[in-house]
Amino acid sequence: MKKIVSLSVVLLFLLSCSTVPITGRKRVNLVSDAKILPASFAQYKGFLKEHKLSSNAKKSNEIQNVGINISKAVDKFMRANNMVSEANSYRWEFNLIEDNTVNAWCMPGGKVVFYTGILPICANTDGIAAVMGHEVAHAFAKHGQERMTSAYGQQLGGIAVALGTNNKDPKTKALWSTIYGVGSSVGMLAYSRTHETEADKLGMVFMIMAGYKPEEAINVWVRMSERAGGKVPPEFLSTHPSNQTRINNLKAYLPTAIAQAKKYNVQ
Ligand SMILES: [Zn+2]
Repeated sequence: MKKIVSLSVVLLFLLSCSTVPITGRKRVNLVSDAKILPASFAQYKGFLKEHKLSSNAKKSNEIQNVGINISKAVDKFMRANNMVSEANSYRWEFNLIEDNTVNAWCMPGGKVVFYTGILPICANTDGIAAVMGHEVAHAFAKHGQERMTSAYGQQLGGIAVALGTNNKDPKTKALWSTIYGVGSSVGMLAYSRTHETEADKLGMVFMIMAGYKPEEAINVWVRMSERAGGKVPPEFLSTHPSNQTRINNLKAYLPTAIAQAKKYNVQ
């Protein structure tokens, strides 16, 4: 019996092993799209109901336009790389909410929210594209589901709660806040160093594919660190790459990103 159990655990592990496109990193994800997407769409709907959309039509349109351009790049990539059914399952949406928190996120299936508080850090359209590319990259690489998978190991049953489609359940909401940063009041969610670096790289490829200036991704992190005034929030200390490391990594990756974008942008 024990053997069967451990064998099935190994089998499950192998079946849930996959590779992140572009970076080639191996990951374990126990959460299927069929399970996560309905939960994601319900959480997004609930979030929008409880938050105020920005009344700045110009800025909202800008977020929308950049989002559409980045999503087209991601869609193009997926269709050219055996991810057609995944591309078809996305329900892209881009909203700007009135909130001073420096925050932006993308939930599974392309559900994006920008907070007005992050606009000064973005500073311009290319800056918006850099943040958009980064957040969409977290969703594209399924970082949240990976977090959920490791949380599952620590706390059995967590996944079942997180996959609920009741967008009013406080337990589910709390989990989505931890896993995807939805409704977080402390600002941008600190994923692990591995996930942040990966989102930086993928985001850069997507923004170049969409026709934006990738150098602005570097400037975004310069502005982010200026805003922090050298003071890094404690939650970033252990797992988050420092802004300087991030800036150096982005600079180093730029030529590779340009080459990758060129490769994936041909039809
Ligand atoms: Zn991130």
